[in-house]
Amino acid sequence: MALFERDYDIYRERDALREDYQPDELVGRDEELRTYKAALQPVINGEQPNNVFLYGKTGVGKTAATRYLLGHLREDAAKYDDISLSIQFLNCDGLTSSYQVATHLVNEFRSEHDQISTTGYPLATVYDMLWEELDDYGGTVLIVLDEIDNIEDDSILYQLPRARANGKLDDTQVGIIGISNDFSFRDDLSPKVKSSLCENEIHFPAYDAEDLKAILRQRADVAFYEDVLEPGVIPLCAAYGAKDAGDARQSIDLLMKAGDIARDAESETITEDHVEEGRTALERGRIEEGIRGLTEHGHLVLYSLVTNEIEGETPIRSRDIRPRYTRFARLAERDPLVPRRMRDHLSELTMLGIVSVTERNEGRRGGTYREYELDLPVEQVLSALSETVQLVGVHESVVDMADVDLAASS
Ligand code: ADP
Ligand code: MG
Repeated sequence: MALFERDYDIYRERDALREDYQPDELVGRDEELRTYKAALQPVINGEQPNNVFLYGKTGVGKTAATRYLLGHLREDAAKYDDISLSIQFLNCDGLTSSYQVATHLVNEFRSEHDQISTTGYPLATVYDMLWEELDDYGGTVLIVLDEIDNIEDDSILYQLPRARANGKLDDTQVGIIGISNDFSFRDDLSPKVKSSLCENEIHFPAYDAEDLKAILRQRADVAFYEDVLEPGVIPLCAAYGAKDAGDARQSIDLLMKAGDIARDAESETITEDHVEEGRTALERGRIEEGIRGLTEHGHLVLYSLVTNEIEGETPIRSRDIRPRYTRFARLAERDPLVPRRMRDHLSELTMLGIVSVTERNEGRRGGTYREYELDLPVEQVLSALSETVQLVGVHESVVDMADVDLAASS
């Protein structure tokens, strides 16, 4: 008998639920698409393209709408002999400066053998190279800067849209499509950048549960075999999605998680229980990611609290956590923070939902103090803290805990 056998029960095409899947049609974005399409129309007319600025929270279809329309634009532009269109799609995640964006763009236009180093040139030199590459192209160039809010200075957002007006380009017409997940990004742009980059602004509002249901149905039809989904599954995923942030990505992820859990359980259908289980698992993953993202001292404070929790010492005051925190910091060869700073870390942990806090009254003297305890299962927190545990050493309270796998996620 084969060790691996193909599953035929749940998924027809699981990849349709993945991040990189592009649906053929977008559901429920007619108005935004109409505005967006109108902004791109000059390209087909052979006119100078508009700059477009899209904004809205994550998972509301900005990237999907862009890929959808630009795919059609590329196809339709090819039917006209006098249009030569190049589309550069750049995700700015990880690119924090105009310099990095500019070198990236230069390299996109250059052949593999002719790439420039991403450090070491003066910015003005990189711009000159960029204008040269762009102008060599000679047609219409659309540059998509997705997740543009990662760029910390706005030099390139000023330079690119104005390159032609500033006499840097003669033969090529450039249009910029900026996409931002961050509302404040737009407000913080300088007026001169705003007036050119944000010529055409399109806001993508969050989805409500009805929108999400339609999006999930479209995806489910591709991803799952018929009759696999129990009737309550899509409404439940949509309700959670609408409650969280109106984010289609999260709802699709939840549906996929539920599908995976059903498949692992060798169930013939996906039930609402699978969705609930999936949500717990995803939330857990998010929290563990949150813990891993804390600073070293945040980790040390949390480790001190966890060991006190295991010993039954919680709820506990900040000053009673302190001796252990100080010891752990020394073991990790770090200078302990002053009490106030240490308390700031406890407040941060509280805000993240990892720790809960109770105000107590001092009694007749009238003062108040705070007591902290863990708001998550100890095992979960410890597994996210595995690096700190290795650095500090396994505390005696942890040694006896059989179900913690500290080697697992280092
Ligand atoms: P954003 O770029 O705004 O963060 P995305 O475009 O990446 O969001 O959308 C997140 C996910 O949801 C993608 O898988 C996308 O295909 C899907 N999606 C978003 N909006 C729609 C829609 N209107 N119709 C179909 N799928 C959508
Ligand atoms: Mg996006």
